[in-house]
Amino acid sequence: MRKQVLNEWGLKADPLFLAAGPCSAESEEQVLETAKALAEAGVSFLRAGIWKPRTRPGSFEGVGPEGLVWLERARAETGLKIGTEVAEPAHVEACLEHRLDVLWIGARTTTNPFSVQAIADALKGTDIPVFVKNPMSADVALWMGAVERLANAGLTRLGAIHRGVSSSLEMRYRNAPAWKMPIELMRCMPDLPMICDPSHICGKAGLIPAIAQEAMDLLFDGLMIEVHPNPPEALSDAAQQLTPKQFSELIDGLQLPHEKS
Ligand code: PEP
Ligand code: MN
Repeated sequence: MRKQVLNEWGLKADPLFLAAGPCSAESEEQVLETAKALAEAGVSFLRAGIWKPRTRPGSFEGVGPEGLVWLERARAETGLKIGTEVAEPAHVEACLEHRLDVLWIGARTTTNPFSVQAIADALKGTDIPVFVKNPMSADVALWMGAVERLANAGLTRLGAIHRGVSSSLEMRYRNAPAWKMPIELMRCMPDLPMICDPSHICGKAGLIPAIAQEAMDLLFDGLMIEVHPNPPEALSDAAQQLTPKQFSELIDGLQLPHEKS
């Protein structure tokens, strides 16, 4: 049912909805190379961060609007849908100008209702699909509130992305999987497509397959995974990005719920 909704939005969701691409758009070549590899893997949309909300200043903060031109070129050359993260109304305006197919709100932005409301206001009158990542903390009401703000602005093509929650405790994962949180959201908003982002949960490439499989077992509708042609050289989130080949192997190795006996 939720997958059918994604299909109706023009986003391929069978057998699985897959958003993949680099954490950050870094150069036109990097975006095109990744897009070509992912078009062969049949993903639902190419993701790439254009404006990067970094926790500390001084690290790479994204290439800005120039990257939207690279994404448009990637779409023209591969036929892939394109999507990026928006954190403020100016980002929304730029994305609408370049006719992006999908937007998402990042974990740091979901945490701030004023920012979410400003984005919702900037999106009024459109019906572009928007995915909302969970906030940094395990606060389901804050997550739900962000979805409601977008719905109240008249948007109907809404989904959620679970990317784990930040913790001060030493742990195996960069962000705790905290599965109860997305399960609670699915219970409260049963028609909302729910995607898992194992890349930001894990923080390390090697942990991703097990978390991705767990999301499938919990009946998530799809995955968002960071893919880079040369992960060690990535300007952000280097340790958690997969090569296109690793990504294809991961997807081929997943057992989907209907395949399980
Ligand atoms: C990202 O998708 O690259 C990102 C910054 O994710 P999050 O908002 O989940 O930290
Ligand atoms: Mn990232």
